[in-house]
Amino acid sequence: MLIRDILKEKGRGISFEFFPPKSEEGKDSFLAVIRDLSAFNPLYVSVTYGAGGTTQDRTYRTLKWLREETDLTVMSHLTCIGATQKAIDELLRSYMSIGVDNILALRGDPPRGVPDFDPLKGEFKYAIDLIRFIKRYNFFSIAVAVYPEGHQESPSLEKDMEYTKKKIDEGADFAITQMFFDNKYFYQFMERAERAGINIPIIPGIMPIGDIKKIIEFASFCKATIPDSIIKKMEPYQDNPEEMKKIGIEIAIKQCTDLRNNGVRFFHFYTLNKSDMVSSIVKVIGT
Ligand code: FAD
Repeated sequence: MLIRDILKEKGRGISFEFFPPKSEEGKDSFLAVIRDLSAFNPLYVSVTYGAGGTTQDRTYRTLKWLREETDLTVMSHLTCIGATQKAIDELLRSYMSIGVDNILALRGDPPRGVPDFDPLKGEFKYAIDLIRFIKRYNFFSIAVAVYPEGHQESPSLEKDMEYTKKKIDEGADFAITQMFFDNKYFYQFMERAERAGINIPIIPGIMPIGDIKKIIEFASFCKATIPDSIIKKMEPYQDNPEEMKKIGIEIAIKQCTDLRNNGVRFFHFYTLNKSDMVSSIVKVIGT
């Protein structure tokens, strides 16, 4: 089912993001996590796509499992940087054949360790080019990524919003944000989006912090500020994963509760293919 219709019909709810398991052997444990989280009736679940198509086969296989073994609405992430139109066409047709009709259209990041890679020479330069391409099929509901603190390559928040608005106008039905840990960035982003005339649903991406060291490293790549107060609270528990998770759950509950109190109706959880933290959070905040 098209997610744009689900969002309209339900008006509130949660969704979960997964990455594709490395091997066929990961299927049972992956589906066990899916079963746990299905108890919360997610609006949809999404499967990530490795930069440069590195997980193309695995992403497809995971989507197929989900289609065959569950009734969940699924969305594939899809990056276009370095891809040809022919390859994307083949992939979209394969998605159509298994009933995957929702795509998170992304540019992706240039491959690391390839110094002479020039994204502007490719057939797709930005996510907007992929959106234009996908629209032609008249089959998919399209989502895009947005960045409360601005995308790491954007020269300014104004430019960031200018390009964000352009790609949404090209045919995005809804947007999911990059993770953020201070809600002020989300609220400021929403104000900028409103001023720019953006009126599609913008769903906050919630990353429960299970390991502060890893999140600090990840956040440094994607321009997500982690408040000192969170770092100070969590760092002493680096060698106590259970306590660290407990604190991470409390922080995410506080974040989601504040968002709810400020009118947010949809939440997208980055699950990292684990159900424990997200379940504890959703049990408290509700769906
Ligand atoms: P774009 O919207 O194309 O923007 C990229 C940059 O180009 C921005 O700085 C933008 O301001 C700038 N820009 C846009 N148009 C122009 C223009 N005309 N001229 C000059 N500059 C311009 N990555 C993966 O590899 N796999 C995934 O599964 C994945 N899932 C994600 C899910 C979410 C919810 C989010 C938030 C990100 C995800 N990413 C994923 C990361 C994403 O691929 C990177 O953040 C990437 O750097 C940008 O992708 P984009 O689609 O936002 O790019």
